[in-house]
This record gives sequence, C-alpha cells and structure tokens, in this order.
Amino acid sequence: MRLLTNLESATFGGYSTNRWTWSSSPLASTSRASKSWQIRKGYKYRLKTNRSTGAQFIRFAGACRFVWNKLLSINEHRSVAGVPRLSYAQACELLAWWKQSEEYGWLSQVPSQVLQQCLKDLDRAYAHCVAGRTAPPQYRKKFRSDSFRSPQGFKLDGRMVSLPMVGWVEFWESRPLDGTIKNGTVSRQGRHGFVAFQVELELPDPVHPATAAVGIDLGIATFAATSDGDLHPPLNAYRRVEKKKARMQRRLAGMVKYSCNWKKQQRRIAQLEIRIAHCRHDFLHKLSTETSKNHAVIVIEDLQVRNMSRSAKGTMDEPGKQVAQKAGLNKAILDQGWGMFRRMLEYKQVWQGGEMLAVNPRYTSQTCPECGHVAKANRVQQALFSCVACGYTYHADVVAAKNILALGHRERLNACSPR
Ligand SMILES: [Zn+2]
Repeated sequence: MRLLTNLESATFGGYSTNRWTWSSSPLASTSRASKSWQIRKGYKYRLKTNRSTGAQFIRFAGACRFVWNKLLSINEHRSVAGVPRLSYAQACELLAWWKQSEEYGWLSQVPSQVLQQCLKDLDRAYAHCVAGRTAPPQYRKKFRSDSFRSPQGFKLDGRMVSLPMVGWVEFWESRPLDGTIKNGTVSRQGRHGFVAFQVELELPDPVHPATAAVGIDLGIATFAATSDGDLHPPLNAYRRVEKKKARMQRRLAGMVKYSCNWKKQQRRIAQLEIRIAHCRHDFLHKLSTETSKNHAVIVIEDLQVRNMSRSAKGTMDEPGKQVAQKAGLNKAILDQGWGMFRRMLEYKQVWQGGEMLAVNPRYTSQTCPECGHVAKANRVQQALFSCVACGYTYHADVVAAKNILALGHRERLNACSPR
C-alpha cells in the first residue's frame, strides 16, 4: 500500500510543484536535471461512486462553492470600500471562525484540506488576474462548476482509493499507472467523481524520432493548415449541439424554479456541456499527438487568443464596432480551443524531445512563399492565395503555414548565429 500524505510540497530537480491546474489535463511539468530527464504526468480515473459516496461528493463540492462565493463577495465589498482583499492567511482565519459559528458550523463536516485547497485556488485565481493572465475569478454555479480538490490524505491499494471522510472507493482503471505517485486530487464533474494522480517518471533523454519541421496556421474555416499541405477541418463541437442546448434551455425557462424537473433539466444541460468538452478534448489530443509524433520542430503563430477573444462591446464612452460579428467570431475561437491545442503541442514536444517555436504572424497571410512579394491583394478570397507578382496560386491557409515555417527557420538561424 502506498501512502500519499503531505506530498503537496514535494520538490525535485530544483523544480517545485505544489499544485497543478485541474483544467489542463493531462498535466505535465518537466525538469531537466544535470543528466536525468524527469517528467510529471497526470492520470485521471473515474470513481465508482454509489449513492452515499456520490452524496458526499455533492456536499463537498457544495461547501467549496459556498466558501468560494462567500469570499468573492466579501472581497468585492472590500474593493468597493477601497480596502485590500483578504489574503490567504486571513481567509483561513475567517474559515476557522466560520467552522466554529452556529450558522456555518456544517462546514466542519467537510475535510479541512478540501476547503483549504479551495482558498488556495481562489488566491491563485486572484494572483493570475493581478498578473494580467486571466479574467477576475467568477462566482461558481451549481451544476456548472461542481468540483473540489483534495491534494493529500488519501491511500491507494490496487484499484481502490481511500478518500478523506469518504472511505474506500473503487475506480475504473482505464489505463495502467506507471511512475511514482506524487500527489492526487479528487474532483466531481457532472454526475461523476474522478480521482487524478500526478506521477513522476524518469526517462532517458528523449531524441525525437522524426527530422521534419512543420508550420501550422490556425483558422476558423480550417482549424489547422500545415505547411505540408494538410487541412484539418474544425470539430465545432459547440455549433453541432447549440440548437439542442438552446431548446433545453428554453424548456428550463418554462419550468418552476428549483422544482424537481427544473433540477433534472439543469443536470441534463450540464451533462451536455461536459460531453461537448470531452469531444473537443479528444479531437485536440488526437491532432496534437499526430503532429508532435511526426515533426521534430513545430512552428506556430504567436496569437494572443485572450486578446482576440476579448469582447467587442467596448465601454459606454467607446462602444465597440461590429459587436455581433465579433461575438460570433469569439465563440468560434473559444470553441476551437486554440490555446488548449498550443499547450498540448508544447508539452508533447517536450516529452518527445522536439522543439516548438511561436512566431509573430504579421504578413504571413499576404506574403508569397515563392517570390516574397507582400501585398494585400495576394489573398484573393478567404481560402485562395494568388500572387499578383508571380502568379503563384495555392490554398491561403497552407500559404500562411509555409510562411510561418519560414519565419521559424529564420528565427532559429538568428538564435544560433554569434552576435
Ligand atoms: Zn509571388
């Protein structure tokens, strides 16, 4: 039996990981020690919950949602009053006080590490926001963000895992686990509970099996066009079920709020969203694995997905232009999951021993790969490129991918040459 206690602050190879993001699974971080090559990988399994353990998961997730929303609203009031937000330590103190109070005493029936993790997550969400990486933390909604994490205090025995305050629960071993377990997290998504383990693997220094390099252009009409001339159509998971979801939401609106049927319908909608997310994940994983396996160097455009998907509404003084069109485009961009695709390519290249470059995509759609002529008129249509100088004609997205690859080559040469 392996005991997993207090592994949260494990350090190795000079690199310390004390937690990992739940959303970006499989999760990997890497460290290049002097000779050994260690990677961290995430394995996620679905738990075989029964009525009582399932109910406990719902309770834990509910407590986390309560704590998260409560602190968020306190901090909002503080910011209006011009007082700095509560620090992690202050939030912990407040939590301890709540647990002793009569009103919120029920919180003490939830494992303390679960609630503490929730506070840490909120603290990190604020830190990311302050650093300008993400939007401010949002209120959590029931059925929408039902999860909790417990980074420590559980044991593993074969296909059974012992969770704090829940006991032994079996899980579906969908793939064998290898490496040394460093920590674990329990979560709930929709109807199901999940357990995820972060393991450490030692690998010989990887040498990428392929020698080819590829440029990739990401787009709306074509999800990814490669410089080899491959066109990968988008999945558009959301578009396909959008109508179904709208119909379900209309039906929900006609129901009596908080009734049994209303709750059932809420759950159905949440399940549909989870299915969409799974489809998208699967699509991106397949494409990124294939691309990473076949190419030692991948060059991608350095798109600021966050900036591109920023709402076009603008402010009261400066109303945005083409709000409706931009909203449609935003939805398409987020639906495509470009950011997720890029992260997947990044860590898969690290595992394979390959390389990944991001280049500035300026003029990549207007430059002729044959003669180098740059003109807006080169792009005849959305999908057609035709050079006005030499007459070279090809698919516009593939041309962009070729230019991206050329930029990547130039950047590598510049990096290698002495100054
Ligand atoms: Zn040309």
